[in-house]
Amino acid sequence: MKMNSLINLIRNFPEEEISIKPRPYFNHSVEFKRKITAKERAKILEKVGLNVFFFPSEFISGCDLLSDSGTTTLTNKQWASLHLGDEAYGSNKGYFLLFEKVREVFGEKFFSESSKIGKKPNAFIFHQGRAAEDALFTQIGKLGKGLIIPSNGHFDTTKANIEANNMKAVDLFSPEIKKENSKEKFKGDMDIEKFKKLLKEKKEKIPLVYLTITNNTAAGQPVSMRNIREVSELSHSYNIPLFLDACRFAENAYFIKKNEKGYGKKSIKEVVKEIFSYVDGFTISFKKDGLVNMGGGLFLKEDGLFMKKYPKISDNLMNEQILKEGHPTYGGLSGRDIMALVEGLEQVTKEEYLDYRISQVKEFGERMNQEKLPVLMPPGGHAIYLDMNKFFSDTSLKGEDFGGISFTAILLSAYGHRACELGYFAFGYYDKKTGREIFPEVNFVRFAVPRLRYESQDLESVVEATKRIYDEREKIPGVEVVYGRDLKLRHFKARFRFKKM
Ligand SMILES: *Cc1c(COP(=O)(O)O)cnc(C)c1O
Repeated sequence: MKMNSLINLIRNFPEEEISIKPRPYFNHSVEFKRKITAKERAKILEKVGLNVFFFPSEFISGCDLLSDSGTTTLTNKQWASLHLGDEAYGSNKGYFLLFEKVREVFGEKFFSESSKIGKKPNAFIFHQGRAAEDALFTQIGKLGKGLIIPSNGHFDTTKANIEANNMKAVDLFSPEIKKENSKEKFKGDMDIEKFKKLLKEKKEKIPLVYLTITNNTAAGQPVSMRNIREVSELSHSYNIPLFLDACRFAENAYFIKKNEKGYGKKSIKEVVKEIFSYVDGFTISFKKDGLVNMGGGLFLKEDGLFMKKYPKISDNLMNEQILKEGHPTYGGLSGRDIMALVEGLEQVTKEEYLDYRISQVKEFGERMNQEKLPVLMPPGGHAIYLDMNKFFSDTSLKGEDFGGISFTAILLSAYGHRACELGYFAFGYYDKKTGREIFPEVNFVRFAVPRLRYESQDLESVVEATKRIYDEREKIPGVEVVYGRDLKLRHFKARFRFKKM
């Protein structure tokens, strides 16, 4: 008999055929949750007017899916890097490592050699994304009157910062997002036809174009490389710079690699580099794909159209940063935060991380779908969206009963999972003139999945809880708004109580 090598032998046992893959990491340290009953949770939630934002997180015995922002679990390398943080006021050690890492991940032109020593600055560190947006739009707002910033979908703080500076934020969502059973893989794209029309009619009023990757407001759907390229070419043909809201750049790159023709063999880092080659600058919240709990930034391409067209803005930005955040070499961050960010940017661009991250969210959505729960499919990279209009379609609940608020209150008190209403209440508003609620186009509850935090078993429990609530949906009353109906960003502050059935 011939000797059989192990390598030959394992050909009979192909690894790919194992349907349940192990996680690409193991638990390094864990935190036990507090024990609490459903009744106790209900008491606490009633006290805070059914507003889940005010529910103390230490009493959450299930999954906290309120947000994927800043909620990541750090890796052991990140915890170790915190110890290496240098808290010097000027030019801390981490700043130079961040300089190298930004150049490696996004491209050398987004953090120039001269910027490193404060000359012609083009890289600005902030404590979070919205501070970077504030700094940028404060400058842009000074460029003229009646300005418009088009986007494939502005995030709420981006829109708020644009409007706070007397400009108009215009959303050009892809028509695919509203189509029932659309097979389109990149529903986050900008509507090119609408964009062309807007450019033709309003070109003098557009100082800057924005693309949000992935498109958070459009259910976290990804944007294709083709769309990024087209929007870039169009903007540049009108001499208008293009920016990215790059919070989930790594997740978006992963979708391009997996689903767009011609990118399958490229590495994530190559895809990321190509994305950023088309733009003149970007704002980012590192609380998402920076894999850290706090951090943000604004980066301008050294020889890009923005720096050329608005040469004075860069110095103004540095002044703004010094005034409101700190010296440019630490911005709004402590030295240890910067160290964790450098390590986070390294981890987040690794394919094994993204593979796990995106499949976990996808499986969560598929399980909901299998249970006939009305979720938007296929899901984007960071969250699952449950359609409340479909959920309550065969009950007597009306739009102004805010069924999404009822659902999140029951999910949290009965089963210990926290989700977030992002629908008729969060994005709708009360019209004082008519005394009516004006509803947005979609009515979702969002389950955002924190990075590296939960296992499939945890998410499976959310599916089961949601199914239970769905099966009893005709027993669920609507809510009335006790406080905050006509406030701005009302969902963060309002209080409710259940109506009588
Ligand atoms: C979170 C987020 C922001 C704002 O960042 P913060 O760090 O929360 O201030 C901007 N745009 C998008 C798409 C986001 O998801």
